[in-house]
Amino acid sequence: MERICVFSGSSAGVAPAYDRAARTLGEQLARSGIDLVYGGASVGLMGAVADAVLEAGGQVTGVIPQALVDKEVAHLGLTGLRIVNSMHERKALMANLSDGFIALPGGIGTLEEIFEVWTWAQLGSHTKPCALLNVLGFYDGMLAFLDHVAGQGFLKPVHRDMLLVEEYPAAILRAMQRYRAPIDAKWIKRAEH
Ligand code: AMP
Repeated sequence: MERICVFSGSSAGVAPAYDRAARTLGEQLARSGIDLVYGGASVGLMGAVADAVLEAGGQVTGVIPQALVDKEVAHLGLTGLRIVNSMHERKALMANLSDGFIALPGGIGTLEEIFEVWTWAQLGSHTKPCALLNVLGFYDGMLAFLDHVAGQGFLKPVHRDMLLVEEYPAAILRAMQRYRAPIDAKWIKRAEH
């Protein structure tokens, strides 16, 4: 993996562990020679992960819509900043640039972003790993709900299992390196793309 996209809160959250996890992940990425792709903001956990990669000597590409440059205070110290026209363009570019996706704790923007790339994986339109960094059990409630969704027959176990979950950054990077997409994509056969 050369580049990983990290989705994370534009807020910092209440527990200091969230910021620590964002920084540790950033350091691990830089140390592993993996570039960061993210939403280009300087605020919240988004800013924390980017700063940590930069401080450790790594490369960071931010992708931010023009309309959010002021609101999310675009990070001006990045090795690359791509200003796009819409949220849709932002997500498409982040996805195309990246070899895998990690969600740190975050709000509905973070949730939307990781769910979107996971649904694309389910459809077989990419084979890149999608992962949650479950800091302090932040995602436990959502994971229990996802098991309910699977139990009720709306999500196949094979697709449920595509979402990697780890508590620590080093473990998540190892799990992503090992990941092989299942051949059972929902609608599209692998040979078709
Ligand atoms: P949040 O997790 O809500 O703090 O948001 C994290 C990031 O997701 C911020 O950069 C938001 O601008 C971004 N975001 C929120 N909604 C969307 C969306 N529909 N498409 C792309 N990015 C989004």
